Amino acid sequence: MNLPTLTQEALVARARALRAEFPILAQVHPSGRPLVYLDNAATAQKPRSVIETLDRFYSERNANIHRGVHWLSQEATRLYEGARAYLAQFIGAASQEEIVFVRGATEGINLIAQTLRRVYFQPGDEIVLTIAEHHANIVPWHLVAEELPIHLKPVPLTPEGLLDVEVLRAHLSPRTRLIALTAMSNVLGTEMPIAEVAHIARERGIPILVDACQAVVHRPLSVEAWGVDFLVFSGHKLYGPTGVGVVYMRRPWPQKLPPYQGGGDMIRRVTWQGSRFAPPPAKFEAGTPPIAEAIALAEAARYLTETVGWEFIQAYEAFLSEYAQQRLAAVPGLTLYGTGQPRGALWSFTLEGVHPHDVGTFLDAQGIAVRVGHHCAQPLMDALGVPATIRASFAFYNLPEEIDLLAQALEEAVRFFAPPEAKPR
Ligand code: PMP
Repeated sequence: MNLPTLTQEALVARARALRAEFPILAQVHPSGRPLVYLDNAATAQKPRSVIETLDRFYSERNANIHRGVHWLSQEATRLYEGARAYLAQFIGAASQEEIVFVRGATEGINLIAQTLRRVYFQPGDEIVLTIAEHHANIVPWHLVAEELPIHLKPVPLTPEGLLDVEVLRAHLSPRTRLIALTAMSNVLGTEMPIAEVAHIARERGIPILVDACQAVVHRPLSVEAWGVDFLVFSGHKLYGPTGVGVVYMRRPWPQKLPPYQGGGDMIRRVTWQGSRFAPPPAKFEAGTPPIAEAIALAEAARYLTETVGWEFIQAYEAFLSEYAQQRLAAVPGLTLYGTGQPRGALWSFTLEGVHPHDVGTFLDAQGIAVRVGHHCAQPLMDALGVPATIRASFAFYNLPEEIDLLAQALEEAVRFFAPPEAKPR
């Protein structure tokens, strides 16, 4: 099957069939209208196979891991470590030891920031990022900066929302000790040229951290091919459960970095004199980890790659994204932000004269879920000169008719919120 040559009708038919595997999408909104879920960048819905994996784990295999000699504990451990192995392969890591389970991307970046602070950063060091970072890739560095005077150097984007690597290069200095950037803006949808940035970073011996929260959902990626040092993503955006995420750290970082938190499961030996730590990745996983969630996250990754397939996801989402662009651009008074390519399937926009929150409430009354606000990217909002935007973000289970409903509802909103003198009598 050569998907890119499939007709649009065939792509939509496949999306419709896949959609049936997401029970929540069959619900009716309290307004009596079908539920149109276009907030996938905030969190994606879960396929039945992920829900069943959680159910099966708790019904048949639940036990604490690593410390048990009994059958259930050994089974739970096997499934949990199997999930680590699957996810290592999913992101193209060389070794399972490079994969650490955390609660989510936010905890992942905090882990990297706090451990680098203890063994790596020196006063006066600089971190280069982009102006499009999520607060999860800004505030952890501010916390470090409160203790050690380090400086953040944000790189502006082009008007299309793209990163010019030469502009990034101009922000590097002998004090640059880390490049930390998103692979895809959660506000603009634009993708950053990670391989090129990683190449520049390697030439200069600067480690690079990638926030892959959004990118990992839309296309296959490989940490080895990119040549990055750190990468994080959250399970819940990748059609998996909440409460679990992944930190990738290239060897020898797992050996070089100290533990993040102390507790059970991360030690080799504890006496009153002190503790010696387990080898990585256990060293970074203090306490009982999100066992069921990690196993179900691996199922989500398996479902995406083996059941849905990246070829379909990329071909269909490209179609959806283009269709949405056309429909949205035709709404009177609508401004789209960051229209550059390559991009993932999401669009941020504003409607002239109407506050995004009013648009969000208006759409919700029609059963349409979008996100409105600053999207945890206030510095980017400042750069765009708006307090908030409306964001419609798509998954491979969304349908063109949902985009039609969105566009129609926005046209109604334009009429509804128009000042009285502008309304036809
Ligand atoms: N980075 C980006 C680009 C995101 O979109 C998000 C979630 N909105 C995060 C980080 C934080 O993810 P989480 O809240 O799951 O930790």
